[in-house]
Amino acid sequence: MNGPRVHDPDRQRAHVNLMAHLEHLREIGCRVPCMDHPAAEWTSEDHEDQQYVARLCSSCAGLSRCRDYITNHPEPGPAVWAGLTVADRAPRRGRPKKRKET
Ligand code: SF4
Repeated sequence: MNGPRVHDPDRQRAHVNLMAHLEHLREIGCRVPCMDHPAAEWTSEDHEDQQYVARLCSSCAGLSRCRDYITNHPEPGPAVWAGLTVADRAPRRGRPKKRKET
């Protein structure tokens, strides 16, 4: 995970709060995989690399706060956030499928 790439005071505040939360989790012995692995793995443009690190997020103690952050402050760029790859975070295109009436 990298810092916010878009200049936005609200985003920067939210990012600082998220990082403080993650640091606190580490201080009390919780796992935060993106702080233990090389940053390059989290920002790789390779889809397989992204899928690999996205799986690591499932064991992260800060997953829900990270998910809140990236939902409210979508980040451009290839980084994996909260177990979501770039493709996972891309807006869906096309019409939603119709449900069959039962
Ligand atoms: S959920 Fe993933 S990207 Fe978010 S803080 Fe945890 S390890 Fe990092």
